Amino acid sequence: MSQFWKPGAEKPRLLDDEEGGVVFLSSSLSSASSIGYGYASIEKQRQRLPVYKYRTAILYLVETHATTIIVGETGSGKTTQIPQYLKEAGWADGGRVIACTQPRRLAVQAVASRVAEEMGVKVGEEVGYTIRFEDFTNKDLTAIKFLTDGVLLREMMDDPLLTKYSVIMVDEAHERSISTDILLGLLKKIQRCRSDLRLIISSATIEAKSMSAFFHARKGRRGLEGVELVPRLEPAILSVEGRGFNVQIHYVEEPVSDYVQAAVSTVLLIHDKEPPGDILVFLTGQDDIDATIQLLTEEARTSKKNSSGLIILPLYSGLSRAEQEQVFSPTPRGKRKVVISTNIAETSLTLEGIVYVVDSGFSKQRFYNPISDIENLVVAPISKASARQRAGRAGRVRPGKCYRLYTEEYFVKEIPAEGIPEMQRSNLVSCVIQLKALGIDNILGFDWPASPPPEAMIRALEVLYSLGVLDDDAKLTSPTGFQVAEIPLEPMISKMILSSNELGCSEEIITISAVLSIQSIWVSGRGAQKELDEAKLRFAAAEGDHVTFLNIYKGFLQSCKSSHWCHKNFINYHAMKKVIEIREQLRRIAQRIGIVMKSCESDMQVSLLTLLLVCLERISTLYDFPKLMGTCMPSAGCSFVYHVTCSPVLCVCTGRFTDQ
Ligand code: ADP
Ligand code: MG
Repeated sequence: MSQFWKPGAEKPRLLDDEEGGVVFLSSSLSSASSIGYGYASIEKQRQRLPVYKYRTAILYLVETHATTIIVGETGSGKTTQIPQYLKEAGWADGGRVIACTQPRRLAVQAVASRVAEEMGVKVGEEVGYTIRFEDFTNKDLTAIKFLTDGVLLREMMDDPLLTKYSVIMVDEAHERSISTDILLGLLKKIQRCRSDLRLIISSATIEAKSMSAFFHARKGRRGLEGVELVPRLEPAILSVEGRGFNVQIHYVEEPVSDYVQAAVSTVLLIHDKEPPGDILVFLTGQDDIDATIQLLTEEARTSKKNSSGLIILPLYSGLSRAEQEQVFSPTPRGKRKVVISTNIAETSLTLEGIVYVVDSGFSKQRFYNPISDIENLVVAPISKASARQRAGRAGRVRPGKCYRLYTEEYFVKEIPAEGIPEMQRSNLVSCVIQLKALGIDNILGFDWPASPPPEAMIRALEVLYSLGVLDDDAKLTSPTGFQVAEIPLEPMISKMILSSNELGCSEEIITISAVLSIQSIWVSGRGAQKELDEAKLRFAAAEGDHVTFLNIYKGFLQSCKSSHWCHKNFINYHAMKKVIEIREQLRRIAQRIGIVMKSCESDMQVSLLTLLLVCLERISTLYDFPKLMGTCMPSAGCSFVYHVTCSPVLCVCTGRFTDQ
């Protein structure tokens, strides 16, 4: 491994020297904040949060302005406190609901359980949450609802003006997820019809001025000369003063070739040399997090240095409730917690007690090439803004240190200042169909916070046309287009479900679709790659992964949904339970739109044919069909399907990377 700095020894840098801007420098080294939060009553903890001082100001601005933009350092209490202030002030009276959106599912769940705990209620009653395929709300009781921005978009299909909500808080707006951007454009439209609706746009680092300009530039309601409208249309901007402490930045001296190994060594060095305090490591996804945990556990066991007392925990979406709770629970005395996380801990979730941050410099990001029509989730360098946020996580409870696994030169010269909005680097098929289903026909003329690239837009229209979802006038076809829009899956998969009806294999296709909508059904990170590979072979089908999924599902049912069976076969029991739940929901939706549930029994080719059908419909329209037939159809039947399954075309079709 390349040469490393020695934590604690050589020239550290303060975060605020790096670009001349003042960031995170402590303005209030209050003694209260360095006392462990675990000991104070919940009410006291709430009052200590930076937003508490702004409670009255926030309520006043929300009352008097249609849109309020709130910028505040991560951990200042925006997400957990503001919805509670609004409820206390009566915004949920009369059966109205306060909504708070998040780009990430895990954040929705974690924040809802925190707020429920603070309010002393059960999740699913006064405080509820909804993510795709998981609804913990109560129609009569829920006053504060956390949900993903994608779910709120879907709710608009049934209730275009979102009438049950009094305030909608679009949180983490700086992430500029594709759904957040669509939502912002649509909410701006809704505001024209609903003067009673209030919006809060909140975030850690948002460009408040440009967001304000976006919401201010509008046609519509105007008052008489000199008469002030209530609410005022010009957005209010409120900046919540942060409470970060100094963070020393350390860089590697030479570029590292393997950030997993580098992260492990750095954690062990910190543990060996530095005083107590928890460590937060930023990696990219479940695979490298699991690999790091495995390596760290091994090295900690065999290392001569004192590595006892480390509690090593993962943080990524898909963790069970119990695993999430471990991450948030206070570290026992004499121990040091190491949380290995995706960029979810960058701004969405705050962990108390973090003093050291290890930043790999990478995250998983979606990239789309409209020419080849291939979307990938790739490990890519983060922006300077992200790196700064990550470092800031070390300074929440006291001065901290951030170890960057890249050189200073790389930071200064190579990485971009800001990330690119997801809208500008994604496949827009789902986005287009959603807007069409909401009756927005002029998609190119839609009021976007960031315009999508025209090539991607055209490609999305082409794909939807070839799937029979749009007609010659680019309007949703009836019934196919509307049915596809109603199924909460990628349009390609939804179309596959519709096609399965004609081929009599809807049972199988719905199972495959359910498995494709979760991240992975395999257990990873148990350290036995060989056994895992063997387990995979037991279910493997020559026809490809999709039939393998069917085999696993059947095996799980035959085992009477046994966790022991899952464990033996390296299958994630919680994931399988989720598959059963999602499958049931998809079955209900499918039946609602008139699909007859039918199994093709063992005639696997029929179900594969459906997959293929969807695929070919696209291929025949978009690609040189005869040429593909030549390369992909050496013989009829399974091998044909298999080849197509392996081609990039279906990789796009199956689009497994929608959730992070
Ligand atoms: P912001 O949205 O401004 O980043 P939050 O409202 O998420 O801040 O967090 C405010 C405080 O609540 C933080 O100090 C954090 O430690 C605490 N907190 C948030 N979620 C949890 C949780 N699930 N468990 C324990 N504490 C939490
Ligand atoms: Mg937040």
